[in-house]
Amino acid sequence: MSRAWIGLGSNLDAPRRQIEGAFAELEALPGTRLEGRSSLYSSSPMGPADQPDYVNAVALLETDLAPLVLLDALQAIEAQHGRVRERRWGPRTLDLDLLLYDERVMATPRLTLPHPGIGERDFVLLPLMEIAGDIEIPGRGRASRLLAQCPARTVRRIE
Ligand code: ATP
Ligand code: MG
Ligand code: MG
Repeated sequence: MSRAWIGLGSNLDAPRRQIEGAFAELEALPGTRLEGRSSLYSSSPMGPADQPDYVNAVALLETDLAPLVLLDALQAIEAQHGRVRERRWGPRTLDLDLLLYDERVMATPRLTLPHPGIGERDFVLLPLMEIAGDIEIPGRGRASRLLAQCPARTVRRIE
């Protein structure tokens, strides 16, 4: 089994419900257990500012699925939630990013690990640290140091 950390985000169509539904769908993936889930957080949008605030969370999975198989599954869940890609970093019903997969480091056209944004995003690092503690991000350093260096600080816990 491998450990995979997933970043969840939503800012359309009842975001909390989207995130709650996504946790259930992650738990239902084949060969996969939901081992941990953070609280829900709220954050200001990254990129275009003319969109609602986000609800964010992080999940820990124990999984038999290989990284690209897991990415396929995450994208299928996004599609079930009616995800439509328009502008980069535009509003969405559900975003599921594969943040970390064991200590794997890779860069392919479909999948980069660790997720390239992980080190600069308070809305990823704070929920991640809630359930992972001061985890080492391969190639980047400890989560606490990265969080202290984050350019913006808008995330707050909402439940
Ligand atoms: P960001 O990746 O900066 O958070 P985003 O989540 O809005 O932006 P998406 O439209 O969800 O971007 O994904 C764009 C592409 O990123 C996907 O098609 C996927 O192949 C690729 N990708 C590369 N690495 C990862 C990863 N670690 N997790 C999820 N998607 C990834
Ligand atoms: Mg994303
Ligand atoms: Mg994404």
